[in-house]
Amino acid sequence: MPAFCDIALPVPLDATFTYRMPDGNGLLANGVQPVIGGRVLVPFREQRLSGVVVALHDREPSVKTKLVLQVLDAAPVLDEGLMRLARWIAEYYLAPLGEVFRTMLPLAAEFRRARAYRITDAGHLALHQAGMAGSSARSRKEPGEQMLEVRVLDYLAERESAREPVLKSATHADTKILAGLVRKKWITREDLSSVGEACRTVKVAVLKATTKSCSETSRQPFNSSPPRELGSGSLRMTEGMLPPSPQREKAFCPGREPRVGDEKLDPSLGAAAHKTKLNANQQEILDTLKTMGGRMRVDTLRELPVPHTTLQTLVKRGLVEIVEEPADFSVSATKPRPSPFHFQFTSAQQNALEQIRTASASRKYVGFLLHGVTGSGKTAVYLTAMHAVLQAGRSAILLVPEIGLTPAVAADLHQIFGEQVAILHSGLTDRERAEQWHRIRRGDARMVVGTRSAVFAPVSDLALIIVDEEHDSSYKQEETPRYHARDVAVMRARMSGATVVLGSATPSLESYFNAQKHKYTLLELPDRVEQRPLPEVEILDMKEELRDTGHEQVISRRLAAEIGERLARREQVMVLLNRRGYAPVVLCRACGHTAQCANCAIALTHHKREHRLQCHYCGYMQAVPKVCEECGSDYVYFAGTGSEKLEELLHGMFPQARIGRLDRDTVRGRHDFERMLNQLSAGELDILVGTQMIAKGHDVHGVTLVGVVGADIALGLPDFRAAERTFQLLTQVAGRAGRGESPGKVVLQTCFPEHYAVQFAGAHNFRGFYDKELRYRSWMHYPPFNAVANVLVRGDKLDDVLKFSGLLGRWFEKTSHVGIRVLGPAAAPLTRLKRDYRYHFLLKSASREKLNALLRSMLAYAGEQKIPRNHLVVDVDAVWLM
Ligand SMILES: [Zn+2]
Ligand SMILES: [Zn+2]
Repeated sequence: MPAFCDIALPVPLDATFTYRMPDGNGLLANGVQPVIGGRVLVPFREQRLSGVVVALHDREPSVKTKLVLQVLDAAPVLDEGLMRLARWIAEYYLAPLGEVFRTMLPLAAEFRRARAYRITDAGHLALHQAGMAGSSARSRKEPGEQMLEVRVLDYLAERESAREPVLKSATHADTKILAGLVRKKWITREDLSSVGEACRTVKVAVLKATTKSCSETSRQPFNSSPPRELGSGSLRMTEGMLPPSPQREKAFCPGREPRVGDEKLDPSLGAAAHKTKLNANQQEILDTLKTMGGRMRVDTLRELPVPHTTLQTLVKRGLVEIVEEPADFSVSATKPRPSPFHFQFTSAQQNALEQIRTASASRKYVGFLLHGVTGSGKTAVYLTAMHAVLQAGRSAILLVPEIGLTPAVAADLHQIFGEQVAILHSGLTDRERAEQWHRIRRGDARMVVGTRSAVFAPVSDLALIIVDEEHDSSYKQEETPRYHARDVAVMRARMSGATVVLGSATPSLESYFNAQKHKYTLLELPDRVEQRPLPEVEILDMKEELRDTGHEQVISRRLAAEIGERLARREQVMVLLNRRGYAPVVLCRACGHTAQCANCAIALTHHKREHRLQCHYCGYMQAVPKVCEECGSDYVYFAGTGSEKLEELLHGMFPQARIGRLDRDTVRGRHDFERMLNQLSAGELDILVGTQMIAKGHDVHGVTLVGVVGADIALGLPDFRAAERTFQLLTQVAGRAGRGESPGKVVLQTCFPEHYAVQFAGAHNFRGFYDKELRYRSWMHYPPFNAVANVLVRGDKLDDVLKFSGLLGRWFEKTSHVGIRVLGPAAAPLTRLKRDYRYHFLLKSASREKLNALLRSMLAYAGEQKIPRNHLVVDVDAVWLM
C-alpha cells in the first residue's frame, strides 16, 4: 500500500493536502483501503474534514504530515468520468477542487458527528424584531454577542440548514454563541446520522380494483413494449404505451407481486366485499379516491369530514391498500393531470425528436439547440426522447430551472417513468438528497430530473442530457464553485459521448451564437401546437399616457379596458410587475432622504401588509418610520409600485374579480406556488398578479390577456445583459397568453417603446433581437465574442477593500496582459451588500486560456500579499455583474 495520499478538502484554498497512511491496516477501522475517488476523514486545523482521495503515492513531502483518521468508502464514490469533470470545473472556474467535489457529492448527511443548524420560527421572529429595533438600537459599532447572534440568524434565514464549520466560518460565531441560540430555541441543532437510515416516507391510500382485470398492455414489462416508431406518421402516445407505474400495477394487478397478506388480494374477495353494502362515509372515501385517480396521501384523505376509522375499515375489507413511499415521490394532493403524453406531434416536433433519438443512440457527442416558440411543445419532445433512452437501458438527465419543478410536474414524471425516476430539488433535506444520490448510483433510477446540481448525478451509461430553459440564470451558481450548469452539461456530454439538448424559446446569445457557428445543431419549432397563434402584442407608451391624463398611471386606460373585457367574458388575466413589495422607495419630501438598508447600499422596500421595510438583498427589516430618520419631518412618502400595491390597485378597479398574487412574499414553499397555479387552472382566480415567477413555463389554458407593467425596470440596470434579460422576460410572459382555445393578447406598458428589446419581443422576433444585440456585444467586446471574468474584492472594512483592490490594480498595471482588457478597480454597482463593501475588476478576452492564466497569476500574487482568499471572488463567465 502506498504510504501517502493527496486529498482534496472542501476549504477555500487552491491546493490538495498530503496525508500519511497508517502503517499496516491496523488503524483503519474495518481494514478498508483508501481508493482514488473515495472519501477519507482527516484532521485539518481544528476540525475533522472529509475529503476525496485524488492520488496515492510514496513521495514523502518536505513538511510533516498528519495521519488519515478513517476511510469512508471502500469503492470510489466518484467514477473516472466525474473526477475528470471535477478537474475541468476546478480549472475552468478557478475553484478549489475540494469545493467542486463537495458540490458534486450531496452526501453531507453521511458524515458522522457532523452537526447542522436550522432557524426556527421563533428565530425568524427574533430576527425580525432585531430588524424592527432599527439600526440605531442595534449598535453597529460593537460586534458583541448580539451582533453575532443576528449574523447567525441572518445566515440561516437564507437557507435550509448549515453545517457547523460552514456556519462558524461564515458568521465568526463560536460554539458558545451557537449553544446560546439553541437554548433560546431560535435555532435547532441536529446531529446528522450515518447513511442507511430510512428516508422519510409518506403513507398513500391506493384504491384496489375489484372487478377490473389487468389489461394486456399494462401487464407487459416496461422494456419489452417498444412504442411504434415514434417518428413515423402521427403519433398518439396512449396509456398502454406508458410504462405501468408500480403504483398502477399495485392498483390494477393485485395478483402480480406476491406479498405478505396476499390472500387479501384475491380479486374474488373484492367482489364478495361489494356484496356488503357500504355506508355513506365509506362510499365518500372510495369516491374521492376514484376521482383522484385511485391514489391519495393518507394525511390528505384524513381532511375529509369522516371518522378516521372508516379508512381502516376499508383496508380491512380489502378495498383500499395503504402503501409507504419516499416522501419526494408522493403524488401531489391535487388532481393528477390527464396523461401528459396525449397529443399529436407536429412535423417539426417529429423531426427534432428523430434527430435527438438518432444522436443519443450513436454513443457519440452531439449538441443540439432546440429553439421552440412558447407553446410549441418542447417538453413533449424531451420526455419522449428520455423515454427512448430508458427503453434502450441507458440513462438521461433533465435539468430544469429552480421554479420549474412543482409537485405536479413530479407527479407527471413519476407517472411516466415509474420508479426509474429520481427527482432532485431544493426542498430535499440532506438525508433525502443522499438517499436519491445512492438510488441513482446503484442504477435504480436512470431518469434524473432536477435543478442545477443534478448535472452531477452519478448515472452510468449516460445517453442524453437536456437543459430546459437553458437561458435561465438559476443555472449559474452564485457561490464557489461558480459553475454554469448548462456549460457543465455540455462538457459532461462531450466527455461521456452523450447527446446534449439545450432548449428555450429565448436562447441565450451564447448558445444561439454557438449554433450559428455549428457548434450545436439548431432544431427549430417555429409554431405553437395545434396551429394556435402567438398572441398579438400591443406596446403602450406610458409617456403619452402621462401627457394625456396629467399624472402617472400604473395601469393604463387601455390595459384597464382590456382587463374589463376579459373579466366580462369570464376569461383570465395575468399582470406582470417584476418588483415585489408595496412601494420600492421610502422618501422624505422635506429633506430627500431615502430609507436604506443597514447592511447594503440598497433602498428599503415598503411591505404594507407586514408593516415593515425590507431589504430584498439581505432580508434586513425595520419598522415603518412615522417621521423621517434624518430630519424628523413627517412628510414620509412611499414612492413607486410593487406587486403588492398592484394587487391592491386592481382590487380597487375590479372589486368583483378574484385576484391572486405570485411572488416571493406569497410563495414560501413549492406547495404555495402550485396551489396558486392550480387555482388559476381551475378557474378560481380571474387575475393573477406577480413577478417573473408568473412568466416561467406554466401552461394555463384560460389566460387570454397578459398585461406587463413596468417592463423596463431592468433596462436601466448597469449590466450588459439587461437588454437580453428584458427581451427574455417579455417573450416568456407573453407566451403565457392564448395557450388554450381562445387567442391571446399582450398589453406591454413601457417608457421605452422604441427600445429594441421591447420592439422585438412585441414582434415575437428572436432573430431580429439576436442580430441587433450581437452587434452591440461585438462593439463592446462582450460575450459571446469575449470571455468575461468579474473579480470582486469584498470585506466588511472599507479600508481593507480599498487597500486590496489598490494592490491588485497596481499589479494588473505592471503585469503584461496582451489580449486582455482589464477594467477597474471601480466600486461595484452595488457598493455595499450584506455588510460587505465591494470593488471590482472586469476582465475581457477573446482568449480564455490567456484570461485564466492571468487570473491564476493574480490569485498567486494575492496569496503572496496575504489577501485573505474569502475577500476575493473570481467569477468566470459572470452572469450577474452587480
Ligand atoms: Zn427628512
Ligand atoms: Zn440589505
